[in-house]
Amino acid sequence: MNATTPASVADVLAASRAVTILCHVRPDADTIGSGLALGLALDRRGVDVEVAFPGDDRLPGTLGMLPGAKLLVHESAVVGHTTVVAVDAATIDRLDRLSAVFERADRTVVIDHHASNEGFGQLDLIDAEADCTATLVLDVLDAMDTPIDADIATCIYAGLVTDTGSFKWARPDSLRVAARLLDLGVDGRTWSRLLLDSHPLTWLTLVAEVLGAAQYVPDACDGGLVYAVVPNAALRKVDWAEVESVIDILRTAQEAEVAAVCKEIAPGSWAVSLRAKESVDLVPVARSHGGGGHRRAAGYSDTGTVDEVVTRLLGSF
Ligand code: MN
Repeated sequence: MNATTPASVADVLAASRAVTILCHVRPDADTIGSGLALGLALDRRGVDVEVAFPGDDRLPGTLGMLPGAKLLVHESAVVGHTTVVAVDAATIDRLDRLSAVFERADRTVVIDHHASNEGFGQLDLIDAEADCTATLVLDVLDAMDTPIDADIATCIYAGLVTDTGSFKWARPDSLRVAARLLDLGVDGRTWSRLLLDSHPLTWLTLVAEVLGAAQYVPDACDGGLVYAVVPNAALRKVDWAEVESVIDILRTAQEAEVAAVCKEIAPGSWAVSLRAKESVDLVPVARSHGGGGHRRAAGYSDTGTVDEVVTRLLGSF
């Protein structure tokens, strides 16, 4: 049983003079939006705040434009305060080289919405029913009676609009939250374009190559699987974050229940993204490879040649 409530997290944060907020590796808009929303709110209460994500990857351009990005520090400059909060990380491994900062803190809090998250903090605010981590952060801020200004609202909106695929699978509560955020002054049109509908021309070339070589394997799982491979040489032509959206096009293949994109992050080192439509639960599949995620969206890491990675993928269902 997870008895942690937004109010209990709010109590810990209200008693903290300095807080480190950790986002997950290869950060997306939900982890950065959650981190910056919480960071801005604490900063305005006079708390000493640092927000960081692991790795030397440059933050995708549009995420660096979010309000509060000035609170971000490079992983090498992280102080590691006595209270540490992990946002949108399903396992401590997702904190990568910053996991030690989490482990040595006096007070640790996990805020997340991944169904696979078993909890790794002293307080685990985990709600698999939430559409994104950012709205859980909003619940914590509401429990703290923090005024939500347009900047904080924008960071929460960034997580909400991206993790719901532009509200395509948003729950009624999420739409009510979105209305509240827009009423608070979020420029929804601009942020939707920047976060979801904006790519360099080189991305179009990459997508044409990768999707042109996609393979359909009808027997791989119930309902069939379509997969595409992004070799490291191709991946290096674009910002790594640009590749994250390839799966959103691949999964539109109506012949396939499951879509998979194998991304060679570094030579021989792969990140595999999975999406399902209805019948296949991806959580056990991702977990069997040491990964995690949600029922219809999950992922894991693998190593080896493209053939080895694809063979293991096709044998996982
Ligand atoms: Mn998320």
